[in-house]
Amino acid sequence: MQSGPPKGIATTPLWQDGAGAAFVRPEETAAGDGRLPPRVEILVVGGGYTGLSAARETAAAGLATLVLDAAAPGTGCSGRNGGQVAYSIKPSLEQLAAKHGHERAYAICRDGLDAIAYLRELAAEEGFDCDWRATGSFYGAHTAAHFAEMAHAARHQPPGLEQRIRIVPRGEQHAEIGSDYYHGGCVYHDDASVDPVRLLDSLRRRARAAGAETVYGCEVTSLERSGDGYLAHTARGPVRARRVLLATNGYSRGLSPWHRRRVIPIGSYQIATEPLGAQRMRALIPHGRHVSDSRRVVVYFRPSADGERLIFGGRAALGEPDPLVCVPRLRAMMAQIFPQLRTVRVTHAWAGWVAYTFDTLPHVGERDGLHYCMGYCGQGVVLAPYLGMRVGRRMAGLPGGASAFDGLEFPSRPYHFGTPWFLAPAVFAYRWLDRLGL
Ligand SMILES: Cc1cc2nc3c(=O)[nH]c(=O)nc-3n(C[C@H](O)[C@H](O)[C@H](O)COP(=O)(O)OP(=O)(O)OC[C@H]3O[C@@H](n4cnc5c(N)ncnc54)[C@H](O)[C@@H]3O)c2cc1C
Repeated sequence: MQSGPPKGIATTPLWQDGAGAAFVRPEETAAGDGRLPPRVEILVVGGGYTGLSAARETAAAGLATLVLDAAAPGTGCSGRNGGQVAYSIKPSLEQLAAKHGHERAYAICRDGLDAIAYLRELAAEEGFDCDWRATGSFYGAHTAAHFAEMAHAARHQPPGLEQRIRIVPRGEQHAEIGSDYYHGGCVYHDDASVDPVRLLDSLRRRARAAGAETVYGCEVTSLERSGDGYLAHTARGPVRARRVLLATNGYSRGLSPWHRRRVIPIGSYQIATEPLGAQRMRALIPHGRHVSDSRRVVVYFRPSADGERLIFGGRAALGEPDPLVCVPRLRAMMAQIFPQLRTVRVTHAWAGWVAYTFDTLPHVGERDGLHYCMGYCGQGVVLAPYLGMRVGRRMAGLPGGASAFDGLEFPSRPYHFGTPWFLAPAVFAYRWLDRLGL
């Protein structure tokens, strides 16, 4: 068992091994000698799934579109996630209906399903390579009561919102997972896995093929209203834009204080084991599905693309910037589920900032002429490309720009100015409730 401060562990995502030279093109970095265009129709701030998906739509509509990202491709969450494709609306239909009425609630859930269908269609497009694997997922029950609840929910799905779900009692769960940790669970057959970096690169190639310009290593430092648009100040000089999209999600800092008060940046952490061999991996996750469970403080895991390693993630900390600090805690969480992995070596550890919101819904809209699309609460692999597409169409005045999220109030909290002081006590409480099985 590795103990003490971990050594010899790469802090780049396993997904980016070997992606290097092909992934970062010189003309798209700050080192490139290309100058920024002085004026564009559409400026997209943030070159992750959201920004690139929106940019593809506006560029395809013939609007001069520039995507600026402060960092290298893949530095944001879109280059470092778990690649788990699943229905990603957190509140239930009932919870949403109590707040927004049945019609809006139904439409939000419908968008959640349409988002998966959209990504599935993209993955099937010629030349779009995100390593789509229709593996389905296993959702483990942390307690017997959770199993009873999830089995009941699977048997009584709202008409029109059905997913293909199979209930797996505890006695049969070894067919799904080489662990006794869970009290049974459910298989979601429509879920899938992707390679996050290949998804990002495909979205970027698609946006560029439509005519969008993408520049990395170029931070937008401030935005000011100017005429009927915005003047953006950047690390490489000013750019005028008729319309601006904020696609900065968990990396939203001071650019728009109003948004900063509405998204809560939280760290999400992952490790990859040394190669365990395909046979050993099949004993852990026989069908190669991705796995998560019913705890409040989330864990998730899946096989690597080559089927040789386990990639294990979870909320091991809240705001810890050094992923190595989280390795011992993630190892302990992994060994709880798979005691047989107690002594395996960890080769990679990485982290990223996801964006939570106070109502656990993503938010899409426009304020003072500034468009935004953010707040996926740690589940943007399907929502970000889909809602990015919608907001891009809307900015271009194309049909298909509406979503069920339009016009939802984007809540904040008193005394929240961007540093989530209230999180530590909340997560501490959640950990205790998980421990007590409540
Ligand atoms: C470890 C981890 C595991 C995850 N696993 C999953 C999963 O399995 N399934 C799932 O659905 N979701 C998962 N997620 C969440 C998912 O990755 C995100 O929701 C999604 O990638 C968000 O995409 P985005 O384009 O909105 O934001 P990002 O990809 O984070 O991009 C935002 C970009 O904005 C840029 N930026 C910020 N400020 C500026 C500025 N002023 N100027 C220029 N650029 C700026 C940043 O550099 C960054 O590149 C995970 C996240 C992490 C960290």
